[in-house]
Amino acid sequence: MPKIDDDHDCPCGTGRPYGSCCGPIHAAGAGLGTTAESLMRARYSAYVLHDADFLLDSWHPDTRPATIGFGDDLEWQGLTIAATNGGRVLDSEGTVEFRARFRRGGQYFELHELSSFARIGGRWLYVDGVDPDA
Ligand SMILES: [Zn+2]
Repeated sequence: MPKIDDDHDCPCGTGRPYGSCCGPIHAAGAGLGTTAESLMRARYSAYVLHDADFLLDSWHPDTRPATIGFGDDLEWQGLTIAATNGGRVLDSEGTVEFRARFRRGGQYFELHELSSFARIGGRWLYVDGVDPDA
C-alpha cells in the first residue's frame, strides 16, 4: 500500500498537507468527514493510497461491494470537485459531482461521476454514483 507523510500535499488536491486534510479522516475511521465533500475527498485519497478498509467502511451497506480492486497499472492523477448539493453538517443526504483523472497503460482517462451520500448515525457514507454524461 503506498504511503505518504503527514506533511506531503494531500492527494485530494486541496493544497493542504495530508496530516491536516484526509489523513485524520483515514486515521479516525470512515465517515468522520463532516461533509459529503470531505468524505468524497477522503475516499479519493484512499483510492490513491489503496486503503480498501476505509473505502469499504465508508460505503453504504446496501451498495457496498465485497472487495475492492485497485488495478496494478492504474495511477490516479488528480481530483476536481465540480459541484456539491446538500451534504453539509446537518444534512442527511448530499451529492458531489467530481472529475478524477487517472493513467492506465500509458493513456490518460477521466472519471466523471455524480456521487450520492447519506448521513446515517452521524457518519457520511457513500451510496452510489452515476455518470452525469450518460
Ligand atoms: Zn485531502
